[in-house]
Amino acid sequence: MGASALKRSITTLVACAALLCAAGCQGSGARQADTNPSAAQPSGGSAHAAPPPASGKVKIRYEEAHSPEAQRGRQIMQDARLLEGLAQHVEDTLVLPGDMGIVGKQCDNVNDMYDPNTNEIELCYESIEHSEKNFAASGNPDSVTAALDAETSGFYHELGHATLAIYQLAFTGREEDVADQLSAFTLLNPGADGKPYPNGLRIATNTAEDWKLSAKESNDANELPFWDGHPMDVQRMYNWQCWIYGSNPAANASIVTSGDLPEDRAGNCEDEYQNMTKGWQQLLGPHLRKPN
Ligand SMILES: [Zn+2]
Repeated sequence: MGASALKRSITTLVACAALLCAAGCQGSGARQADTNPSAAQPSGGSAHAAPPPASGKVKIRYEEAHSPEAQRGRQIMQDARLLEGLAQHVEDTLVLPGDMGIVGKQCDNVNDMYDPNTNEIELCYESIEHSEKNFAASGNPDSVTAALDAETSGFYHELGHATLAIYQLAFTGREEDVADQLSAFTLLNPGADGKPYPNGLRIATNTAEDWKLSAKESNDANELPFWDGHPMDVQRMYNWQCWIYGSNPAANASIVTSGDLPEDRAGNCEDEYQNMTKGWQQLLGPHLRKPN
């Protein structure tokens, strides 16, 4: 079963090359963009409320599915109205300079991506179907919800690539890490309205589990070449666990006491989480919708 993860890695490289990408790629999950209550004052502050800034729309499309895997993935996405919900959250959160798209499609591989040429995030039906299978095989009693969670965080990873491109944001560090961080920031931090992302902690936890299962599928081997821009699956699992713990060490202490997150890493996770949160708040601040 190492083959499928290897295939994923290779298809990622191919897909990225094909898209000339600065763009997203990889993985199995999906997710969304977020907001911070204090950052979003557009400039000025005149007494008269300015009209809300013009913003692009998020258009969704479920493409046809032909293979059994793709048909199953499409069914899961459509039954949950996944794209509808993600599109709504993006429109509620970001001021977009133009329209963007979210597309469910048969890709014939396990991947998701952002295409800067079309400004569309593509979620592969096979990706969510693959996650559902992995969760079910691991004994998860609600493999559909878990797979939807992983796909949701995967979407926000791709939205990380998209926002870097759309707003031409400056960043340092590997783009794949930065994209994962936007996903965690969105799911674990309160939005512009001060409210938590619905089920954000569960989604993040299932995302870490999804990476764990994906790593296990390849027998914990590093299937990525050393020069790849993505961290290994198992590293992404530890990153997610670190950010979940770091977002609220008191509430999430069991991640450490259970041994899932080694203390060597855990000691820095609160700082790590706060630093990346501060970074994304500053990056997205000017582009966030104000509450109301
Ligand atoms: Zn990516």
